[in-house]
Amino acid sequence: MERVDLILTDIKIILTMDENFNEFKDGDIVIKDGKIHDIGTNLRNKYYGKTLVCKDKIALPGLINTHTHGAMTLLRGLGSDNPLNVWLEKYIWPIEGKFVSYDFVKDGIKIAVYEMLRNGITTFVDMYFYENAVADVLNEIGMRGVLSTGILDFPTPGAKNADEGIQKTINFIKEYSSDYVIPAIGPHAPYTCSPETLKKCMDVAEKYGILYHIHLSETENEVKTVKERFGKTPIEHLESIGILNHLVLAAHVVHPTEKEIELLKKRDVKVSHCPESNLKLASGVSPVPEMLKEGIVVSIGTDGTASNDDLDIIGEISTAAKLHKGVKMDPTVLNSKEALVMATRNGAKGINMYDKVGSLEVGKSADITLIDASEPHLNPLYDPYTQIVYSGKGSDVDTVIINGEIKVLNKDVLPISREEVLDIAEFWKNRIENN
Ligand SMILES: [Zn+2]
Repeated sequence: MERVDLILTDIKIILTMDENFNEFKDGDIVIKDGKIHDIGTNLRNKYYGKTLVCKDKIALPGLINTHTHGAMTLLRGLGSDNPLNVWLEKYIWPIEGKFVSYDFVKDGIKIAVYEMLRNGITTFVDMYFYENAVADVLNEIGMRGVLSTGILDFPTPGAKNADEGIQKTINFIKEYSSDYVIPAIGPHAPYTCSPETLKKCMDVAEKYGILYHIHLSETENEVKTVKERFGKTPIEHLESIGILNHLVLAAHVVHPTEKEIELLKKRDVKVSHCPESNLKLASGVSPVPEMLKEGIVVSIGTDGTASNDDLDIIGEISTAAKLHKGVKMDPTVLNSKEALVMATRNGAKGINMYDKVGSLEVGKSADITLIDASEPHLNPLYDPYTQIVYSGKGSDVDTVIINGEIKVLNKDVLPISREEVLDIAEFWKNRIENN
């Protein structure tokens, strides 16, 4: 018998989400040194160590949220139901200008992290300001974040111009890279960054081999602005300045032309689909079935909570699966398996970390989400993919493991208390309301 760190045993169903969709019924997952050491059935007599019986649970790879602005939890619900420009100019930007600081981000990200863990998310891609505050929280609690400071050509909280934002990113790479903190560079969008800024950011991404996280082709207004300024649609504009490649993770991609979809495939650009944000801000519907057909890696993002307004990735794939069926008037579009791939395997591919996370396979990090299949609304259980996507909710997540460590147990988030989260929310609500 070999001694290991943790054995998850009697798991009702393991959905490995590997390339062959291997599944195990009444399965076991064996964890050692933060990694999946063994996976299959009847492994209990080969190993000993701390054991968690998971009789009524469905095991999935830790879910991956590929686009958010975590600290915006503190702005959740402000100025809803307004046109995008009114929402930004009247509500979001003035408050951000006044309040966003290291402390704001540190508090806001705690709420986000609590909520994401509770919903089974083990890795997220963030773009905001004071990412050092996010990194401090993630290193403390042991959750993975791909973190990018938003870089714009005008002053932001934390940087007076794009060059300062880029320099801060370089410093961040050197100071903060860890198992949990994966630095990325975050040029905000083609209409807020000049070609020079976009190119400088790509130089940094290539030099350090990090993700290039950008909003792209989100609204009709963006397409119009970029066309007026550069004579090209946003994705063609990026192609013309030579920055489309495998490092690029493009959030939204709501309005690509057919030619632009071909370009994304040709350059191996990854897409983060954010359907609920696109619906709430009335940006439109991204042609996800077309992009998947073309072979583009499409993952899923919640976007910030000021435009969603939650961080429930299971809810997000459920929305995606139904939205595209409705728009195409075709129920075969984006089936439940494909939807779950967006939140697992494609999430990992989208951040170039598929060698480490995104499927349950021996040698990968032990990032695991267990769903409580004893909930009445998940029964009878004919097909676990269908049940998770169409009947499931983030709140059905029971246990979350990151790097082999238990972060959520019996639906209780261990690293941050519910009371602390509620206190933080109340404190900032009072400050923002009384400004
Ligand atoms: Zn965004």
